[in-house]
Amino acid sequence: MPSTELMTALLSRANHGCELCAQAAALQAIAVPPHNEVTVNHGLIVCEICAAQLGVGVALDGALDEAHWACLQDSAWSQEAPVQVTAYRLLGQIEAPWAAALRAQLYLPEEVLAWADNLTAAAAGTGPTLDSNGAVLAEGDSVTLIKDLNVKGAGFTAKRGTMVRRIHLTDDRELVEGKVNGTQIVLKTCFLKKSS
Ligand SMILES: [Zn+2]
Repeated sequence: MPSTELMTALLSRANHGCELCAQAAALQAIAVPPHNEVTVNHGLIVCEICAAQLGVGVALDGALDEAHWACLQDSAWSQEAPVQVTAYRLLGQIEAPWAAALRAQLYLPEEVLAWADNLTAAAAGTGPTLDSNGAVLAEGDSVTLIKDLNVKGAGFTAKRGTMVRRIHLTDDRELVEGKVNGTQIVLKTCFLKKSS
């Protein structure tokens, strides 16, 4: 948990609202990946909705709520690097034409762009596929979900604790495929725990 002083500094920078959508309810500080510690330079104040969207557990089409992210039309112009990086990444994931157009208009300093691209590089990088605890996952392993995942495309929630048997690895070391409720879905490895 970030210290009180840090939260105060971040909340003051954020004008006591979500730095992405400006809503003032249920604010929390998150670290912008690949950083995993909340600091003034790497932390971001987000509301519940944005936090949930950023943590979308299942990489299916339509998993990002396009209507909600219209807020980026304002926040993408922030002068704060953690906001810029997050907005730039999100705009790259939203398929609507306005998102691509806005992304192309943003002028980001070189070091901010390098940070924004860093996540993609890490995802595409070579190395073993790891679960949330860093255990190596192999083709055919069984895993357990460590949180409820809303499977938007399929219209059900995969419950925490659900076991997924015989997973398939993918080209992306952060994603595996598996069957939940008889439906083949893509799962983010950060929400999985290897079952023994
Ligand atoms: Zn928000």
